[in-house]
Amino acid sequence: MTNENQAELNGFAKLGISGALLKATIAAGFTEPKPIQVESIPAQLEGRDILGIAQTGSGKTAAFALPILSKIIALGTKRRPKTARALILAPTRELAVQIEDTIKVLAKGAHISTALVLGGVSRFSQVKKIGPGVDVLIATPGRLTDLVREGDVILADTQWLVLDEADRMLDMGFINDVKRIAKATAKFRQTALFSATMPAEIAELAQGLLRDPVRVEVAPQGTTAAEIRQSVVLARTKQKRKILSDMLADETMRSVIVFARTKHGADRVTRDLERDGFEAAVIHGNKSQNARQKALNGFRDGSVRILVATDIAARGIDVPGISHVVNFDLPDEAESYVHRIGRTGRNGADGIAVTLVDPSENSKLKQVERIIRMKLPVDADHLGQPDPQRPAGEHRMPQPANDDAGERRQGRPNGQRGRGNGGNGGGGKPRFAKGGDHGAPKGDKPEGRKPFRGKRRGFGGGKPKARAA
Ligand code: AMP
Repeated sequence: MTNENQAELNGFAKLGISGALLKATIAAGFTEPKPIQVESIPAQLEGRDILGIAQTGSGKTAAFALPILSKIIALGTKRRPKTARALILAPTRELAVQIEDTIKVLAKGAHISTALVLGGVSRFSQVKKIGPGVDVLIATPGRLTDLVREGDVILADTQWLVLDEADRMLDMGFINDVKRIAKATAKFRQTALFSATMPAEIAELAQGLLRDPVRVEVAPQGTTAAEIRQSVVLARTKQKRKILSDMLADETMRSVIVFARTKHGADRVTRDLERDGFEAAVIHGNKSQNARQKALNGFRDGSVRILVATDIAARGIDVPGISHVVNFDLPDEAESYVHRIGRTGRNGADGIAVTLVDPSENSKLKQVERIIRMKLPVDADHLGQPDPQRPAGEHRMPQPANDDAGERRQGRPNGQRGRGNGGNGGGGKPRFAKGGDHGAPKGDKPEGRKPFRGKRRGFGGGKPKARAA
């Protein structure tokens, strides 16, 4: 069968995708559109705004990218210097890189220019790339805010705006940057907002930015993929290192992501694994962009079997074929558990998620079980066994869930949200949000904004006014 004949049969053609884009979807192996694509592509082609409740893995990137690319191809006019026709905002650098990669695949043969604007890497090459103007700009809000303020990027011609993983942008303290950026785009623009969860602040943001949106929801909040086998291992914090190493000695765990709650925790787990003879890569917000991308590439191409990650750094990353997720500790937010285990069991493949739980994490475990609506089976119980690092007979005070107490007392770990006091390690009440607790992060946060600098009120005069919502 020729490519053209195949194209006729492709479900994307029925959604209104044609020409080079249709061919590219076939070349990418997208035979049938995913539900989010079926629901949102025709609406966007008609010019409608989208409010999408969807997680990474749902196919949302193609869902928003294909209609935008179709329209840009149809425009065919010249771009003005420093402008972008479409802007996609993403919370993390990794997600932004991944979005650009997907767009390049989908726009193959369509003469679409893309550029990335990200923090953590030199701005010189970014400014140079956007100099002549680009079709699609993918950016993290912090760096883009800086470049717009300095006049290196002009958003007045931006007719398409996508906010991807809006809830994460909120968690990371980007909300004001996002609003300011949206305000600087074209008055009559088309907007799509995607979020895995819909806390009040995001609903409010959507109301301000979207015009009569089509609401698309693909995975109800808190559901986990059926094909992921989940269990817990009960163990004291001091036992976790040995348990993890024993687990990883099993070579059938061929591609493993180990989640740690904090950046320091992730570093420590990685160090311990290396001391125990494993090769592991780590990604978190204190690592340089190059180091993060290198770790991710190695994990993706299979040369790295074990990736240690924090929630923020791993969020939105789509690496196919992850066989196991190990939660070295539970996240502060029950919903992060759902995101973590969603890294495995992708595209119908089996996945296994194991969570190591110290007794001090029991309240977090209960929250997780409430949100996933199931009780997690106990795979192993090490609580009756002696602590490997504690001489027999020695009495000690009960241990915290981890030894990041100092870090926790100084600030929230790793961009996690929440308003409670202290952490388990700090001895206060567990600061585990009861559904939708969305205070701005402080302290130890990898990708969030730097403290507010005096002049950063806005982009200055001459910007287009916000359109009526
Ligand atoms: P996303 O949620 O956009 O990160 O997409 C998750 C994964 O699904 C990516 O690896 C995409 O390449 C893939 N994907 C998206 N749409 C389709 C489709 N219609 N058929 C098969 N795979 C798809």
